[in-house]
Amino acid sequence: MIPTGSEEARPRTTTITLPEATFSASGRECAPPRLASSTPASPLSPSPEAPLLLTGLTTAQIEEFVAALGLPRYRGRQVADWIYRRNAGSFEEMTDLPRALRHQLAAVASVGRPEVVARTVDADGTTKYLVRLGDGQTVECVWLPYREWSSVCLSTQVGCPMACAFCATGRGGFARNLSAGEIVAQFLLARAHAPCPVTHAVFMGMGEPLLNTSAVLQALHLLNSECGIGARNLTLSTVGIVPGIQRLAREKLQINLALSLHAPDDETRARFMPVAQHFPLPVVLAALRDYTAATHRRVTLEYLLIAGVNDSPAHADRLADLVLGKKEEGGPLLAVVNLIPYNETEARFRRPSEEGIRRFMARLKQRGVAVTRRLERGETIAAACGQLRREAASDAPGARPRRSPRRRGTAVART
Ligand code: SF4
Repeated sequence: MIPTGSEEARPRTTTITLPEATFSASGRECAPPRLASSTPASPLSPSPEAPLLLTGLTTAQIEEFVAALGLPRYRGRQVADWIYRRNAGSFEEMTDLPRALRHQLAAVASVGRPEVVARTVDADGTTKYLVRLGDGQTVECVWLPYREWSSVCLSTQVGCPMACAFCATGRGGFARNLSAGEIVAQFLLARAHAPCPVTHAVFMGMGEPLLNTSAVLQALHLLNSECGIGARNLTLSTVGIVPGIQRLAREKLQINLALSLHAPDDETRARFMPVAQHFPLPVVLAALRDYTAATHRRVTLEYLLIAGVNDSPAHADRLADLVLGKKEEGGPLLAVVNLIPYNETEARFRRPSEEGIRRFMARLKQRGVAVTRRLERGETIAAACGQLRREAASDAPGARPRRSPRRRGTAVART
């Protein structure tokens, strides 16, 4: 979901062409993965053909799984402790389990630690991983250090069907949903390599989380209850899948919800976000109002500032109107606008000038809108989502040569 430049700023009429089973205006989810690494039909039945990915299970479920093998339940607690709290990446590392038991478990289950295909490290410490899943598909996750805390940005799908024009992932198409275990495994991998505690997680990597809601909800639950990440330190970002927002409202989670808004009206939005043709802004904003009413949580409106596309004073005024709301629309939206100056890594879209960014921000403030500017991290390491994956693909034998993005202070390791 972290945007990058990839296509020029021209009117875009592309419709989202998605398999019938993956997405509809009623918000049906994308098809679940059909892989051994995903949760099998009978999730807790041991099967050598489909090793169970334990990172998708709670401690109680791992106990149940272990009990189904005829083992004492406390062995399940030991395994869960190794996975979630002691960062074990394999059964071999679980040294207080008898060797025979470790082999028995490895025959029917997996700890799911993905293989690191490439790793890039920015001068600010931001570390981006390209990881290979059990079926050979690759996704990205990012560790982001801040002064007093650190966070992991997680992918929820292999590719993305939403086709946002500014996004490298969107250009690559959609392959499949990730299972909860595959999402949590990214977190565990990044945490295992992090030099300081990881306190936050954001669902802003590859994919639209609310097209994979069941797995994402399970992953949120596991990160909270098993990995110790407070609900208020978990953030989910969506382009505005209304049925998914409604489901989150019903769940009444205390997580942070962010909308990738990027334009104050449907006409501008549809130029680079095909989702605008499926879920018009008035419908999305009504869902957000219901969400804030149900959870009492302020939402974040992510606004990517693109020069000449959505950064004029008129756009700022329309954005303010939208946040402040008319009385008949429900009044002010409980929201903060987060401005994200466009990252020009390989852009035909352009970043506004610093003065233009400041003017836009000041105009919103003048109108009484709460506004922040996103701290830009990992600028030099193909920071936008899908970029590292695309670069790895273009480095593959037979791939077309690519333009080199501008880089400073970058360390790249391919394994
Ligand atoms: S929704 Fe998909 S295409 Fe759009 S920015 Fe997010 S990952 Fe990219």
